[in-house]
Amino acid sequence: MPSAISTDVLIVGAGVAGLWLNARLRRQGFSTVVIENGSLGGGQTFKSQGIIHGGAKYALHGALSGASEAIADMPRRWREALDGKGELDLSGVRLLSEAHYLWSPGTIAGNLTSFFASKAVRGRVDQVKGSDLPPALQDPRFKGKVYRLAELVIDVPSLVGKLSELAGDSLLAGQNIEPLLNEGELVGLRVDGRDIRAQRVVVSAGGGTADLLRALNVNHPAMQRRPLHMVMVKGSTLKPLYAHCLGGGPKPRITVTTHPAANGQWVWYLGGEISEADGVAREPAEQIAFARKELAQLLPWVDLSQAQFATLRVDRAEPQQTGLVRPDNAFLDVQDRLLVGWPTKLALAPDFADRVLASLSRDDIHPIPSPPYPDLPKPPMAIPPWDEMLP
Ligand SMILES: Cc1cc2nc3c(=O)[nH]c(=O)nc-3n(C[C@H](O)[C@H](O)[C@H](O)COP(=O)(O)OP(=O)(O)OC[C@H]3O[C@@H](n4cnc5c(N)ncnc54)[C@H](O)[C@@H]3O)c2cc1C
Repeated sequence: MPSAISTDVLIVGAGVAGLWLNARLRRQGFSTVVIENGSLGGGQTFKSQGIIHGGAKYALHGALSGASEAIADMPRRWREALDGKGELDLSGVRLLSEAHYLWSPGTIAGNLTSFFASKAVRGRVDQVKGSDLPPALQDPRFKGKVYRLAELVIDVPSLVGKLSELAGDSLLAGQNIEPLLNEGELVGLRVDGRDIRAQRVVVSAGGGTADLLRALNVNHPAMQRRPLHMVMVKGSTLKPLYAHCLGGGPKPRITVTTHPAANGQWVWYLGGEISEADGVAREPAEQIAFARKELAQLLPWVDLSQAQFATLRVDRAEPQQTGLVRPDNAFLDVQDRLLVGWPTKLALAPDFADRVLASLSRDDIHPIPSPPYPDLPKPPMAIPPWDEMLP
């Protein structure tokens, strides 16, 4: 039987939410354990596009929504952390792009008018031209307009690597989780037969949350999944592009981010409308054919004849909302010693950690000295989806 452990905060799930929270807690002197049943970052986190939204995309709806307000401060907080001066020291994490761009390929003035009228983007958007255009759009045949948004794009694998480094000895590979009860009250978890007592248990298990809550005999909060069907393109002719390409509707027609593959080539990762409802309904081969057509129309100067394509089906995991709408903020539900939540966006991991820290402070939870942990089995690092699917 493995030896028992005591810790201040026991976190389940080593995606960006659990890892960011873990680093914040450790910085404040709390002892922590983070349990992961797969790989570090291998849930939604490694499959995300790495955009640190400031809310501009949501302002495309015209009306300023809660999402635009809540998220507006995230690029600053991430920037400070990346500079080693913020709530975490994330120096060394690779920044893929200083900006995300808004790219209007044709005439959709109506859409852009309401966009520029909204408070979320006022003063934060500049038009770029010529040599300031993203490299992939620098072609004489390019006719559209491009605006620079104050939103960063980060290299998620290097972020997860750094957060894992900051996690020190707190990471634990664990499969079988049961509640650890004392007189009917949750006092920790039993993980693969090892008792882990904790002042608080935080569940940040993304899409695994519903099953885990069932195993803990907890019946809320309810979650929803939003399925996506992403497209990856890899090839030697690709140049970096980080942009929402506007269509006629409220959502970007395509959101392109560009990621480094293990062999040094760039990978375009396509989300936005192409990956949502109609895209989800398409079979992978149809989705690839559709993406090829879109790219040929939007970027006809890029030779994709030798490029490799693959698709990735992945669900976003979020708290239950009416009508599958996007939640506005990080979400945290507190039930005595059990805290359950979703950041709802990578960008909102700091907001998720704030909510947990505020709950600890409300309940007057402080670090309690505990003996050092025995050697714990560590979860492996995830592999980026493009390296897995486009080797
Ligand atoms: C295609 C796509 C693109 C996205 N792009 C962006 C973007 O550009 N910008 C942005 O801000 N957001 C983006 N998001 C959203 C963002 O990825 C997620 O909101 C964020 O990664 C969620 O982090 P998380 O830690 O809650 O979840 P996850 O990363 O899913 O982590 C949960 C972890 O819990 C583990 N786990 C599950 N069950 C258990 C269990 N029983 N025991 C132990 N461990 C368990 C899983 O293995 C996983 O590692 C995107 C999402 C998707 C799907």
